[in-house]
Amino acid sequence: MNFGVDTGFYPLGSCTMKYNPKINEEIASHPAFAGLHPLQPESTVKGAKEVEEGLGKALCAITGMKAFTFLPCAGAHGELTGLMLIREYHLAHGDTARTKVIVPDSAHGTNPASANVCGLEIVEVKSGANGLVDVESLKPLLGPDIAAIMLTNPNTLGLFEREIGEIAKLVHGCGGLLYYDGANMNPLIGKVRPGDMGFDVLHLNLHKSFSTPHGGGGPGSGPVGVAERLLPCLQNVHTSGFHGNFGVMLRAYAYILMLGRENVKMVGPLATLAANYIKESLKDDYKLPIPSVCKHEFVFDGLINDGARDGVAGATTLDVAKRLLDYGFHAPTIYFPLLFHQALMIEPTETESLETLDAFIDVMHRIAEEAAKDPEMLHSAPHNAPIGRPDETTAARQPVLKYE
Ligand SMILES: *Cc1c(COP(=O)(O)O)cnc(C)c1O
Repeated sequence: MNFGVDTGFYPLGSCTMKYNPKINEEIASHPAFAGLHPLQPESTVKGAKEVEEGLGKALCAITGMKAFTFLPCAGAHGELTGLMLIREYHLAHGDTARTKVIVPDSAHGTNPASANVCGLEIVEVKSGANGLVDVESLKPLLGPDIAAIMLTNPNTLGLFEREIGEIAKLVHGCGGLLYYDGANMNPLIGKVRPGDMGFDVLHLNLHKSFSTPHGGGGPGSGPVGVAERLLPCLQNVHTSGFHGNFGVMLRAYAYILMLGRENVKMVGPLATLAANYIKESLKDDYKLPIPSVCKHEFVFDGLINDGARDGVAGATTLDVAKRLLDYGFHAPTIYFPLLFHQALMIEPTETESLETLDAFIDVMHRIAEEAAKDPEMLHSAPHNAPIGRPDETTAARQPVLKYE
Protein backbone atom coordinates (compact mmCIF):
# COMPACT_ATOMS: atom_id res chain seq x y z
CA MET A 1 0.00 0.00 0.00
CA ASN A 2 3.02 2.29 0.00
CA PHE A 3 3.06 5.29 -2.28
CA GLY A 4 6.34 5.37 -4.20
CA VAL A 5 7.92 8.65 -5.32
CA ASP A 6 9.30 6.69 -8.26
CA THR A 7 5.90 5.35 -9.31
CA GLY A 8 3.56 8.21 -8.45
CA PHE A 9 3.38 12.00 -8.86
CA TYR A 10 4.66 13.80 -5.77
CA PRO A 11 4.00 17.55 -6.16
CA LEU A 12 5.14 18.61 -2.67
CA GLY A 13 6.26 22.26 -2.87
CA SER A 14 9.33 23.62 -1.07
CA CYS A 15 10.52 20.45 0.64
CA THR A 16 10.21 18.40 -2.51
CA MET A 17 12.18 15.42 -3.35
CA LYS A 18 13.32 16.25 -6.82
CA TYR A 19 14.44 13.51 -9.20
CA ASN A 20 15.93 10.51 -7.32
CA PRO A 21 17.36 8.10 -9.92
CA LYS A 22 17.71 4.55 -8.62
CA ILE A 23 21.20 4.14 -10.04
CA ASN A 24 22.35 6.53 -7.30
CA GLU A 25 21.03 4.15 -4.66
CA GLU A 26 23.06 1.35 -6.20
CA ILE A 27 26.19 3.50 -6.25
CA ALA A 28 25.71 4.62 -2.64
CA SER A 29 25.18 1.04 -1.44
CA HIS A 30 28.29 -0.31 -3.20
CA PRO A 31 30.32 -2.10 -0.48
CA ALA A 32 33.47 -0.16 -1.39
CA PHE A 33 31.67 3.03 -0.30
CA ALA A 34 29.10 1.75 2.21
CA GLY A 35 31.80 -0.08 4.20
CA LEU A 36 33.97 2.98 4.83
CA HIS A 37 34.56 4.11 8.42
CA PRO A 38 35.21 7.75 9.36
CA LEU A 39 38.21 6.76 11.49
CA GLN A 40 39.98 4.87 8.69
CA PRO A 41 43.50 6.13 7.94
CA GLU A 42 43.50 8.81 5.26
CA SER A 43 45.72 6.70 2.97
CA THR A 44 42.92 4.08 2.66
CA VAL A 45 40.14 6.49 1.65
CA LYS A 46 41.67 8.26 -1.31
CA GLY A 47 38.72 7.43 -3.56
CA ALA A 48 36.27 8.90 -1.07
CA LYS A 49 38.40 12.06 -0.76
CA GLU A 50 38.31 12.34 -4.55
CA VAL A 51 34.51 12.21 -4.47
CA GLU A 52 34.43 14.94 -1.83
CA GLU A 53 36.83 17.15 -3.77
CA GLY A 54 35.06 16.60 -7.08
CA LEU A 55 31.68 17.38 -5.55
CA GLY A 56 33.07 20.47 -3.82
CA LYS A 57 34.44 21.74 -7.14
CA ALA A 58 31.16 21.07 -8.95
CA LEU A 59 29.15 22.88 -6.26
CA CYS A 60 31.55 25.83 -6.34
CA ALA A 61 31.05 26.02 -10.12
CA ILE A 62 27.26 25.83 -9.71
CA THR A 63 26.96 28.36 -6.87
CA GLY A 64 29.90 30.74 -7.41
CA MET A 65 31.26 30.06 -3.91
CA LYS A 66 34.97 29.48 -3.15
CA ALA A 67 34.85 26.41 -0.88
CA PHE A 68 32.42 24.03 0.84
CA THR A 69 32.22 22.10 4.07
CA PHE A 70 30.17 18.91 4.01
CA LEU A 71 29.86 18.48 7.77
CA PRO A 72 26.25 19.72 8.22
CA CYS A 73 23.73 16.89 7.92
CA ALA A 74 20.59 18.88 7.03
CA GLY A 75 19.48 22.25 5.73
CA ALA A 76 18.82 23.65 9.20
CA HIS A 77 22.20 22.34 10.37
CA GLY A 78 23.79 24.17 7.42
CA GLU A 79 21.98 27.39 8.34
CA LEU A 80 23.30 27.24 11.90
CA THR A 81 26.83 26.49 10.63
CA GLY A 82 26.63 29.34 8.12
CA LEU A 83 25.36 31.83 10.71
CA MET A 84 28.13 30.79 13.12
CA LEU A 85 30.64 31.51 10.34
CA ILE A 86 29.08 34.92 9.81
CA ARG A 87 29.24 35.68 13.53
CA GLU A 88 32.87 34.59 13.60
CA TYR A 89 33.64 36.75 10.59
CA HIS A 90 32.26 39.85 12.29
CA LEU A 91 34.03 39.09 15.58
CA ALA A 92 37.31 38.53 13.72
CA HIS A 93 36.88 42.08 12.39
CA GLY A 94 36.27 43.46 15.87
CA ASP A 95 32.67 44.05 14.92
CA THR A 96 30.91 42.98 18.13
CA ALA A 97 27.62 44.88 17.81
CA ARG A 98 26.12 42.83 14.94
CA THR A 99 23.50 40.80 16.77
CA LYS A 100 20.53 40.92 14.37
CA VAL A 101 19.50 38.90 11.33
CA ILE A 102 16.92 40.08 8.80
CA VAL A 103 14.49 37.39 7.63
CA PRO A 104 11.58 37.92 5.19
CA ASP A 105 8.06 37.01 6.31
CA SER A 106 7.90 34.41 3.52
CA ALA A 107 11.00 32.54 4.78
CA HIS A 108 11.15 28.86 5.60
CA GLY A 109 10.62 28.39 9.36
CA THR A 110 14.12 27.03 9.86
CA ASN A 111 15.63 30.45 8.99
CA PRO A 112 14.43 32.34 12.08
CA ALA A 113 14.83 29.18 14.16
CA SER A 114 18.51 28.81 13.20
CA ALA A 115 19.18 32.50 13.83
CA ASN A 116 17.59 32.14 17.25
CA VAL A 117 19.64 29.04 18.12
CA CYS A 118 22.75 30.98 17.04
CA GLY A 119 21.88 33.63 19.63
CA LEU A 120 20.96 36.26 17.06
CA GLU A 121 17.90 38.47 17.16
CA ILE A 122 15.42 38.20 14.27
CA VAL A 123 14.12 41.23 12.41
CA GLU A 124 11.32 40.54 9.95
CA VAL A 125 11.13 42.27 6.58
CA LYS A 126 7.76 42.36 4.82
CA SER A 127 6.97 41.11 1.35
CA GLY A 128 5.25 43.51 -1.03
CA ALA A 129 1.96 42.72 -2.81
CA ASN A 130 4.01 41.14 -5.61
CA GLY A 131 5.41 38.54 -3.15
CA LEU A 132 8.96 39.95 -3.28
CA VAL A 133 11.04 41.58 -0.54
CA ASP A 134 10.02 45.22 -0.33
CA VAL A 135 13.23 47.24 -0.68
CA GLU A 136 11.69 50.34 0.90
CA SER A 137 10.75 48.31 4.02
CA LEU A 138 14.27 46.90 4.11
CA LYS A 139 16.16 50.21 4.14
CA PRO A 140 15.16 51.43 7.64
CA LEU A 141 16.16 48.05 9.14
CA LEU A 142 19.78 48.32 8.03
CA GLY A 143 22.49 49.58 10.38
CA PRO A 144 25.60 48.72 12.41
CA ASP A 145 23.71 46.04 14.38
CA ILE A 146 22.88 43.86 11.34
CA ALA A 147 24.93 40.67 11.03
CA ALA A 148 23.20 39.35 7.91
CA ILE A 149 20.07 38.97 5.83
CA MET A 150 18.83 35.43 5.05
CA LEU A 151 17.18 35.05 1.66
CA THR A 152 15.92 32.35 -0.64
CA ASN A 153 15.93 33.10 -4.35
CA PRO A 154 13.60 32.09 -5.90
CA ASN A 155 11.74 32.73 -2.65
CA THR A 156 9.29 30.43 -0.89
CA LEU A 157 6.51 31.56 -3.23
CA GLY A 158 8.57 30.37 -6.21
CA LEU A 159 9.30 33.95 -7.30
CA PHE A 160 12.67 35.35 -8.34
CA GLU A 161 13.79 38.30 -6.20
CA ARG A 162 14.51 40.65 -9.09
CA GLU A 163 15.95 43.39 -6.88
CA ILE A 164 18.61 41.13 -5.42
CA GLY A 165 21.42 43.32 -6.85
CA GLU A 166 20.05 46.37 -5.03
CA ILE A 167 19.40 44.36 -1.85
CA ALA A 168 23.01 43.06 -1.87
CA LYS A 169 24.35 46.59 -2.31
CA LEU A 170 22.27 47.92 0.59
CA VAL A 171 23.13 45.09 3.01
CA HIS A 172 26.85 45.14 2.19
CA GLY A 173 26.69 48.91 2.44
CA CYS A 174 25.74 48.68 6.12
CA GLY A 175 28.47 46.10 6.80
CA GLY A 176 26.15 43.06 6.86
CA LEU A 177 26.56 39.80 4.97
CA LEU A 178 24.13 37.93 2.71
CA TYR A 179 23.10 34.38 3.56
CA TYR A 180 21.50 32.29 0.79
CA ASP A 181 19.10 29.48 1.69
CA GLY A 182 19.83 27.16 -1.23
CA ALA A 183 17.66 24.24 -0.09
CA ASN A 184 15.78 24.39 -3.38
CA MET A 185 18.56 25.46 -5.72
CA ASN A 186 17.32 23.31 -8.61
CA PRO A 187 15.58 26.02 -10.68
CA LEU A 188 18.80 28.03 -10.90
CA ILE A 189 21.42 25.35 -11.53
CA GLY A 190 23.55 26.31 -14.51
CA LYS A 191 21.60 29.56 -15.05
CA VAL A 192 22.31 31.96 -12.18
CA ARG A 193 24.80 31.73 -9.32
CA PRO A 194 24.13 33.01 -5.79
CA GLY A 195 27.79 34.08 -5.62
CA ASP A 196 27.23 36.41 -8.57
CA MET A 197 24.09 37.82 -6.91
CA GLY A 198 26.27 38.95 -4.00
CA PHE A 199 25.71 36.17 -1.45
CA ASP A 200 28.57 35.47 0.97
CA VAL A 201 27.46 32.21 2.61
CA LEU A 202 24.96 29.54 1.59
CA HIS A 203 23.78 26.03 2.25
CA LEU A 204 22.40 23.52 -0.22
CA ASN A 205 20.10 20.62 0.56
CA LEU A 206 21.68 17.74 -1.33
CA HIS A 207 18.66 15.69 -0.18
CA LYS A 208 16.29 17.96 -2.09
CA SER A 209 18.01 19.50 -5.09
CA PHE A 210 20.65 16.82 -5.71
CA SER A 211 18.79 13.53 -5.67
CA THR A 212 18.65 11.86 -2.27
CA PRO A 213 15.23 10.55 -1.20
CA HIS A 214 14.57 11.90 2.29
CA GLY A 215 11.23 10.67 3.54
CA GLY A 216 10.74 10.27 7.29
CA GLY A 217 13.44 12.71 8.34
CA GLY A 218 16.59 11.54 6.62
CA PRO A 219 19.20 11.05 5.38
CA GLY A 220 20.31 14.58 4.63
CA SER A 221 23.29 16.73 3.79
CA GLY A 222 23.39 20.52 4.04
CA PRO A 223 26.85 21.56 2.79
CA VAL A 224 27.84 25.18 3.42
CA GLY A 225 29.68 27.23 0.83
CA VAL A 226 31.48 30.52 1.45
CA ALA A 227 32.84 33.42 -0.57
CA GLU A 228 36.53 34.31 -0.53
CA ARG A 229 36.46 36.59 2.50
CA LEU A 230 35.04 33.86 4.76
CA LEU A 231 37.62 31.21 3.83
CA PRO A 232 39.64 31.73 7.03
CA CYS A 233 36.51 31.06 9.17
CA LEU A 234 35.81 27.84 7.23
CA GLN A 235 39.24 26.46 8.17
CA ASN A 236 38.12 26.20 11.79
CA VAL A 237 35.07 24.11 10.82
CA HIS A 238 37.24 21.64 8.95
CA THR A 239 39.29 20.74 11.97
CA SER A 240 36.27 19.97 14.13
CA GLY A 241 34.50 16.85 12.89
CA PHE A 242 34.21 13.85 10.60
CA HIS A 243 33.31 13.97 6.93
CA GLY A 244 29.57 14.57 6.71
CA ASN A 245 26.92 12.26 5.31
CA PHE A 246 29.02 10.54 2.67
CA GLY A 247 26.26 8.43 1.06
CA VAL A 248 24.30 11.57 0.26
CA MET A 249 27.40 13.29 -1.16
CA LEU A 250 27.98 10.29 -3.39
CA ARG A 251 24.45 10.44 -4.79
CA ALA A 252 24.78 14.18 -5.46
CA TYR A 253 28.09 13.71 -7.27
CA ALA A 254 26.71 10.84 -9.37
CA TYR A 255 23.65 12.95 -10.26
CA ILE A 256 25.75 15.94 -11.36
CA LEU A 257 28.19 13.83 -13.38
CA MET A 258 25.37 11.84 -14.96
CA LEU A 259 23.69 15.00 -16.24
CA GLY A 260 26.92 16.75 -17.15
CA ARG A 261 27.73 20.43 -17.57
CA GLU A 262 25.24 21.00 -20.41
CA ASN A 263 22.25 18.88 -19.37
CA VAL A 264 22.30 20.11 -15.78
CA LYS A 265 21.23 23.48 -17.20
CA MET A 266 17.93 21.94 -18.32
CA VAL A 267 16.81 20.99 -14.79
CA GLY A 268 15.61 24.49 -13.91
CA PRO A 269 13.90 25.40 -17.20
CA LEU A 270 12.00 22.10 -17.33
CA ALA A 271 10.88 22.38 -13.68
CA THR A 272 9.85 25.98 -14.36
CA LEU A 273 7.92 25.03 -17.50
CA ALA A 274 6.08 22.22 -15.68
CA ALA A 275 5.14 24.50 -12.75
CA ASN A 276 3.85 27.30 -14.99
CA TYR A 277 1.91 24.80 -17.12
CA ILE A 278 0.01 23.52 -14.08
CA LYS A 279 -0.48 27.03 -12.68
CA GLU A 280 -1.95 28.42 -15.89
CA SER A 281 -4.14 25.33 -16.44
CA LEU A 282 -5.75 25.55 -13.01
CA LYS A 283 -6.00 29.27 -12.29
CA ASP A 284 -9.71 29.41 -13.25
CA ASP A 285 -10.52 26.90 -10.50
CA TYR A 286 -8.05 27.86 -7.77
CA LYS A 287 -7.22 31.30 -6.39
CA LEU A 288 -3.84 32.49 -7.62
CA PRO A 289 -2.81 35.32 -5.26
CA ILE A 290 0.35 36.20 -7.22
CA PRO A 291 -0.21 35.75 -10.94
CA SER A 292 3.33 36.34 -12.27
CA VAL A 293 5.58 33.74 -13.89
CA CYS A 294 6.87 31.37 -11.21
CA LYS A 295 10.03 29.30 -11.04
CA HIS A 296 9.86 25.65 -9.94
CA GLU A 297 6.81 26.03 -7.66
CA PHE A 298 3.81 28.24 -6.97
CA VAL A 299 1.08 28.77 -4.39
CA PHE A 300 -2.71 28.68 -4.76
CA ASP A 301 -4.90 30.08 -1.98
CA GLY A 302 -7.73 27.54 -1.98
CA LEU A 303 -10.68 27.08 -4.35
CA ILE A 304 -12.39 29.92 -6.23
CA ASN A 305 -15.78 28.23 -5.74
CA ASP A 306 -15.61 26.16 -2.56
CA GLY A 307 -19.33 25.30 -2.66
CA ALA A 308 -20.15 27.13 0.60
CA ARG A 309 -23.86 27.87 1.04
CA ASP A 310 -26.44 28.20 3.82
CA GLY A 311 -25.49 25.77 6.57
CA VAL A 312 -22.83 24.04 4.45
CA ALA A 313 -19.17 24.87 4.93
CA GLY A 314 -17.07 25.25 1.80
CA ALA A 315 -14.36 22.79 0.81
CA THR A 316 -10.95 23.66 2.23
CA THR A 317 -7.40 23.08 1.07
CA LEU A 318 -7.24 20.10 3.43
CA ASP A 319 -10.33 18.64 1.71
CA VAL A 320 -8.73 19.04 -1.73
CA ALA A 321 -5.53 17.37 -0.48
CA LYS A 322 -7.48 14.44 0.99
CA ARG A 323 -9.60 14.03 -2.13
CA LEU A 324 -6.45 13.85 -4.29
CA LEU A 325 -5.57 10.61 -2.46
CA ASP A 326 -8.77 9.05 -3.80
CA TYR A 327 -7.49 9.66 -7.30
CA GLY A 328 -4.07 8.17 -6.59
CA PHE A 329 -2.09 11.39 -6.28
CA HIS A 330 0.14 12.44 -3.40
CA ALA A 331 -1.06 15.77 -2.00
CA PRO A 332 0.92 19.00 -2.49
CA THR A 333 2.28 20.96 0.49
CA ILE A 334 -0.64 22.57 2.30
CA TYR A 335 -1.02 25.52 4.70
CA PHE A 336 2.55 26.68 3.94
CA PRO A 337 3.79 29.34 3.40
CA LEU A 338 1.82 31.11 6.13
CA LEU A 339 1.19 34.19 4.00
CA PHE A 340 -2.05 32.65 2.68
CA HIS A 341 -4.73 30.96 4.78
CA GLN A 342 -5.59 28.20 2.29
CA ALA A 343 -2.11 27.76 0.81
CA LEU A 344 -1.68 24.87 -1.61
CA MET A 345 1.91 24.76 -2.75
CA ILE A 346 2.59 22.79 -5.90
CA GLU A 347 5.96 21.72 -7.31
CA PRO A 348 5.95 19.20 -10.15
CA THR A 349 9.79 18.83 -10.67
CA GLU A 350 11.53 18.54 -14.01
CA THR A 351 11.15 14.85 -14.77
CA GLU A 352 7.36 14.37 -14.89
CA SER A 353 5.88 13.60 -18.31
CA LEU A 354 3.21 15.70 -20.00
CA GLU A 355 0.79 12.76 -19.48
CA THR A 356 1.35 12.88 -15.72
CA LEU A 357 0.96 16.65 -15.56
CA ASP A 358 -2.26 16.47 -17.62
CA ALA A 359 -3.66 13.68 -15.46
CA PHE A 360 -3.02 15.77 -12.33
CA ILE A 361 -4.61 18.85 -13.92
CA ASP A 362 -7.69 16.79 -14.90
CA VAL A 363 -8.14 15.52 -11.36
CA MET A 364 -7.70 18.99 -9.87
CA HIS A 365 -10.42 20.28 -12.26
CA ARG A 366 -12.68 17.41 -11.27
CA ILE A 367 -12.17 18.11 -7.54
CA ALA A 368 -13.04 21.78 -8.11
CA GLU A 369 -16.30 20.69 -9.77
CA GLU A 370 -17.08 18.29 -6.93
CA ALA A 371 -16.45 21.04 -4.38
CA ALA A 372 -18.84 23.43 -6.13
CA LYS A 373 -21.62 20.79 -6.20
CA ASP A 374 -21.12 18.79 -3.02
CA PRO A 375 -18.53 20.17 -0.56
CA GLU A 376 -19.71 17.74 2.15
CA MET A 377 -18.49 14.79 0.11
CA LEU A 378 -15.03 16.40 0.17
CA HIS A 379 -15.14 17.02 3.93
CA SER A 380 -15.15 13.25 4.47
CA ALA A 381 -12.55 12.34 1.79
CA PRO A 382 -10.61 10.18 1.23
CA HIS A 383 -13.23 7.54 0.48
CA ASN A 384 -11.03 4.94 -1.25
CA ALA A 385 -7.89 5.02 0.90
CA PRO A 386 -7.26 2.29 3.53
CA ILE A 387 -7.64 4.87 6.31
CA GLY A 388 -9.58 8.14 6.33
CA ARG A 389 -8.51 11.07 8.45
CA PRO A 390 -6.29 10.03 11.33
CA ASP A 391 -5.59 12.52 14.09
CA GLU A 392 -2.53 14.13 12.54
CA THR A 393 -0.61 14.71 15.76
CA THR A 394 -1.10 11.14 16.96
CA ALA A 395 -0.30 9.80 13.50
CA ALA A 396 2.99 11.70 13.52
CA ARG A 397 3.96 10.98 17.13
CA GLN A 398 2.77 7.37 17.41
CA PRO A 399 2.66 6.02 13.87
CA VAL A 400 1.17 2.57 13.36
CA LEU A 401 3.47 1.15 10.75
CA LYS A 402 2.16 -2.44 10.51
CA TYR A 403 -0.97 -3.57 8.70
CA GLU A 404 -2.97 -6.10 10.70
C1 LIG B 1 13.69 22.13 3.53
C2 LIG B 1 14.11 23.52 3.66
C3 LIG B 1 14.96 23.91 4.72
C4 LIG B 1 15.37 22.98 5.86
O1 LIG B 1 16.08 21.84 5.44
P1 LIG B 1 16.14 20.56 6.40
O2 LIG B 1 17.09 19.62 5.71
O3 LIG B 1 14.76 20.03 6.49
O4 LIG B 1 16.67 21.00 7.73
C5 LIG B 1 15.37 25.24 4.76
N1 LIG B 1 14.96 26.12 3.84
C6 LIG B 1 14.15 25.78 2.81
C7 LIG B 1 13.74 26.82 1.82
C8 LIG B 1 13.69 24.46 2.69
O5 LIG B 1 12.87 24.14 1.69
